[in-house]
Amino acid sequence: SIHHLEYPPSPAQMDWSTHFPAFFEPPTAEGQGSKNLKGKKVEFADVGCGFGGLSISLAPLFPETLMLGLEIRVQVTQYVSDKIRALRLNPGSVDPDNAEDVAAAAAEGTAHPEDEPAAKRQKVEAKDAKKSKVRGIKPELMPPEGYAYDNVSVLRANAMKFLPNFFEKGQLSKIFFLFPDPHFKARKHKARIISPTLLAEYAYVLRPGGLLYTITDVPDLHIWMTSHIGAFPLFQRLTDEEIDNIGLTSGEGVVGYEGSDLQRERERAVMEAVKKRTEEGRKVERNQGGKEWSVWRRLPDPE
Ligand code: SAM
Repeated sequence: SIHHLEYPPSPAQMDWSTHFPAFFEPPTAEGQGSKNLKGKKVEFADVGCGFGGLSISLAPLFPETLMLGLEIRVQVTQYVSDKIRALRLNPGSVDPDNAEDVAAAAAEGTAHPEDEPAAKRQKVEAKDAKKSKVRGIKPELMPPEGYAYDNVSVLRANAMKFLPNFFEKGQLSKIFFLFPDPHFKARKHKARIISPTLLAEYAYVLRPGGLLYTITDVPDLHIWMTSHIGAFPLFQRLTDEEIDNIGLTSGEGVVGYEGSDLQRERERAVMEAVKKRTEEGRKVERNQGGKEWSVWRRLPDPE
């Protein structure tokens, strides 16, 4: 149940089958982890994902990559979980940004488009294509036909605790901290999501060459985050030019692809999503607030 904060004793004992049934089978014995069907592991972690806008918009861009939102609030986690369920049931016809659409589809349990009559399916696909244009997904970045949000999930967890219980050393290729800590000033140093102790954990779960992203509309928080990450020996900040070229240079094997123009386009879409696709990011946009971001490469461990 998402009402309890449960965590596995080790990543190997985690049951991912409830999160990614297309990728894992349930454990066959108690204390064992799920059976990995396709050799995939969670690679993107959206820490404090809120209403899930980032992960849900990245999922179709990286259909082969498993991504997970981590959220501490029960109702918010439930909402994201419902939203993902609705999208899986009916990937074409649900607008993930429309709460009513999501609730209706979740309640209705609508069939997968594969089961729908061709005429209706075509309509759905046309709507989908239109929507993706609106969302700025370039046609070449569209997921393959039949894509159904199987690669995205949400976990209720306190991301400031037990992260290494869920993820192995070097498992993640991206970790996001988007609009964290709105009450930053009121919090004690130790209670902040970016701190020297926690940075050691983030560096542990992030692979060399992997990327850490931050964005905030709170200038003091931006200073706090960038100064602490900057002081941490395992992270190197990317310049604006480097940010623009993520994916083109393969670097330390960032996110595991050969560098290519297409990969760069995909990574540019990631930056767009970081800035504009989260609920908090949109709120800031509506209020015409400023945003400051940073991207950091996880350096190799010293010899
Ligand atoms: N990233 C989302 C966005 O940009 O729309 C949400 C931003 S919201 C201001 C911060 C979120 O972090 C909240 O939903 C809050 O519940 C969550 N959060 C705070 N501390 C957390 C923790 N220790 N573990 C997991 N989530 C946390």
